[in-house]
Amino acid sequence: MKMSVLASGSTGNSTYIESETGSLLIDVGLSCKRIEASLNKLNTSLSNISAILITHEHTDHIKGLKVIAKRYAIPIFANAETWQQLDKKGIDIHPEQKFHFNPSEEKEIIGIDIHSYNVSHDAADPQFYTFAKDNSKLSVITDTGYVSDYMKGIIKDSDCFIFESNHDVDMLRMGRYPWPTKQRILSDVGHVSNEDAAHAMRDVITERTKRIYLSHLSLDNNIKELAKMSVEQVLNRYDIDTEDQIMLCDTDKEAPTQIYTI
Ligand SMILES: [Zn+2]
Ligand SMILES: [Zn+2]
Repeated sequence: MKMSVLASGSTGNSTYIESETGSLLIDVGLSCKRIEASLNKLNTSLSNISAILITHEHTDHIKGLKVIAKRYAIPIFANAETWQQLDKKGIDIHPEQKFHFNPSEEKEIIGIDIHSYNVSHDAADPQFYTFAKDNSKLSVITDTGYVSDYMKGIIKDSDCFIFESNHDVDMLRMGRYPWPTKQRILSDVGHVSNEDAAHAMRDVITERTKRIYLSHLSLDNNIKELAKMSVEQVLNRYDIDTEDQIMLCDTDKEAPTQIYTI
C-alpha cells in the first residue's frame, strides 16, 4: 500500500491510497480543481481513481464531491445516513455511482481489506476506515471528540496512522472563537486535542508502528510545531521513542505529503 495525505485541516481533507490494482480517495473536501492539482503532483489524476470513501457530510470532507462525481464515473461509498444528508444538501449523485459502506462493515476494494467504524462527532453517522493488505495496516482517525476503547481496538497495531491532532486546548480557550464554537470543539462530539490524541496514540501504538501523521490541525487553534511537540512530550513520558522508533509526520492544508509505502 502507498498513501499520501493530499490535504488536511479544518479547510479541507482528502487522502490518497494506492495498491497494485488501483487507487482511491478518502473524502474530497477540496474543489475538484485542487484535488486534480494535488493528484498531478503525485503523477496521477482523478481518471485513475477507482473509488471515493466518504466519512461524513461536513463541507471540509465533501466540498469537491458534486463536481467530481459529475465529471468522473467514480463509485462513491458512504453509509445510509450520510447519503441522506448528502441528498439534503443537494449533492445529487447518479444512482449507479452510489454505494453503501455501513459502519462496522468490511469490504475489499482495489485488493485492500477496508473496515469502517463509527467515531464520535456531530455529523449524522460519521465513520472512518482502516486499510489492511499483505500484513500492513493503515488507520485513519480524525473528526472525533474522543477516542473510545472500541475505536482503539479497531485501529490498534497499525504500521501507520493518520491521527487527528486538532487543537491546543489553551489556544482554543484564549482564541477568538465564540464560546458555543469552543464548547462544540471541546465536547465529546467535536475534535481531539493534541494532548488527548497523544494519550490515545499511546494505547494503540505497537512495535510495528512506524509513522503517525498528525492531521486535521485547526487553522486558528494549532501550529504544526506545537502539535508535534505536545504529542512528543506525552509519548516520551511513556518511553515511546519518537526519534528512531516512530516518526511523527506533518500534514498540510494544501501540499500533499510525499508518497509513503506502508
Ligand atoms: Zn467533521
Ligand atoms: Zn473535518
